[in-house]
Amino acid sequence: MIKDTHGRTIDYVRLAVTDRCNLRCTYCLPEGFTNFLPRTDLLTYEELLRMLTNLSALGIKKLRITGGEPFVRADLMTLIEEIHARKLFEKLHITTNGVLAAPHIPRLAALGISGINISLDTANAEHFKAITGRDNFDQVMATFHAALAHNIPTRINTVVLSDKNTDDLIPMGRMAENHPIEVRFIEEMPFNGKGEINSNYWNYQRILLHLSQAFDLHPEGFENNGTAMRYRIAGKQGKIGIIPAYSRTFCGTCNRLRINPKGEIATCLYSAPEASLFTLLRGNATDVELRAAILSAVSKKPVNGHKAEEQMLLSNKSHNTMAAIGG
Ligand code: SAM
Repeated sequence: MIKDTHGRTIDYVRLAVTDRCNLRCTYCLPEGFTNFLPRTDLLTYEELLRMLTNLSALGIKKLRITGGEPFVRADLMTLIEEIHARKLFEKLHITTNGVLAAPHIPRLAALGISGINISLDTANAEHFKAITGRDNFDQVMATFHAALAHNIPTRINTVVLSDKNTDDLIPMGRMAENHPIEVRFIEEMPFNGKGEINSNYWNYQRILLHLSQAFDLHPEGFENNGTAMRYRIAGKQGKIGIIPAYSRTFCGTCNRLRINPKGEIATCLYSAPEASLFTLLRGNATDVELRAAILSAVSKKPVNGHKAEEQMLLSNKSHNTMAAIGG
């Protein structure tokens, strides 16, 4: 079991398998962005599996595969099958924009995937195009309906964009009234590749006030080690969650590490990577050396996201794109 210096057990890894994406969401990876990792810098599947095997041995119990868009990486399903076959983690989740995922849903269900998060900021095809720069709304909905049909626990992630989708929030909430899913509204964070902070961002109180006008919401608290404040909707199966991602009120129970596609470990969404496994994995490092590097990164985990951001700014580094970090 891994513990950080603040007494938190670290048992959850979010792995971005690529920094590339097939959408261009304005708040994440804007049109024209070109600063992608060279393909030779991406860890190979063999390197990823070796890293994951070591993480599992250290006590990581939950893995979330994210990106970029994980399904733009060729043969993602081969990696998932192998992770499953090796029984590395108790829980395997995936976060996707849903554009390419629908054909893979039956197999993911057969493997017993623990859950899928589908990112969708609007229930309107035109708004979708304006936010993502692409015309793929129908494909995302196909993934959503396939996940429901195969009984995969499904969440929708909706980033609240003060200038773009506040009219969409209630229609998105209706999805939780009509289906047994959780729709999670996320405060916008400054990870749009330009380091800009939206000074007019909607914080969780404002999101809650807005949603409360349409839904009879009953607070259930934060899920275990989770980031979403959850609400039951009276008489409905679905739930609504609000993630104070920019306010950062949930750091006290943080149990996660983030690993980017080139094997850099960040212990907080707001911090620069604390260690790199890239040269260790490409060179002749032993498993003992790999595990030591992972533990050394964990020992630097900041107490909260505000402290992490302060340290990053002091070191003159700036926020990356969310696609490079993995969300
Ligand atoms: N491509 C996949 C997807 O769309 O779900 C996985 C990667 S994406 C970076 C992971 C999550 O981060 C998505 O739910 C996305 O909405 C969220 N995200 C991206 N940029 C964000 C930002 N600036 N603020 C808040 N959430 C953001």
